[in-house]
Amino acid sequence: MSVNSEIQAANQAYAESWTKGQLPLPPARNVAILTCMDARILPASVFGLKEGDAHVIRNAGGRAPDALRSLVISQQLLGTDTIIVAQHTDCGMLTFENKDIHAVIHKNLGADATHIDFLPFPNLEQNVRDDVSFLRNHPLIPKSIKIYGYVFEVATGRLIAVNEE
Ligand SMILES: [Zn+2]
Repeated sequence: MSVNSEIQAANQAYAESWTKGQLPLPPARNVAILTCMDARILPASVFGLKEGDAHVIRNAGGRAPDALRSLVISQQLLGTDTIIVAQHTDCGMLTFENKDIHAVIHKNLGADATHIDFLPFPNLEQNVRDDVSFLRNHPLIPKSIKIYGYVFEVATGRLIAVNEE
């Protein structure tokens, strides 16, 4: 069975008991959570979410510059007033530099991607601070928005608060 067939089968069963179709569009808990696409992070479980609660924005690393468009929409059109930035230990983004992925792309695809910053980072906690600070200081993020930074510890399942300096 291909993964696509498995997903279709799982969704068929899911849809049979789906009852949340009438929930309102804006997130009930007024929060946008920015986290990594890492397969080990299941946001509903890590953050205690149910349907309708929150926006969850995911990308490689849970990087703020890459999520700005979604965060602005979340705040300006859908009423969220809090951002949780949760990056994590053992993140793939800690394992390469731009020059490495540029070389892989050139080798595999014959393409020049040197104009693209893939936003890898060498220091996890510092990167959470930097992304929180990027958002705090961004002209499109109002000062009234509450922003919290966390490291999700893959080994323990815990969210560790990263205090801004
Ligand atoms: Zn990651």
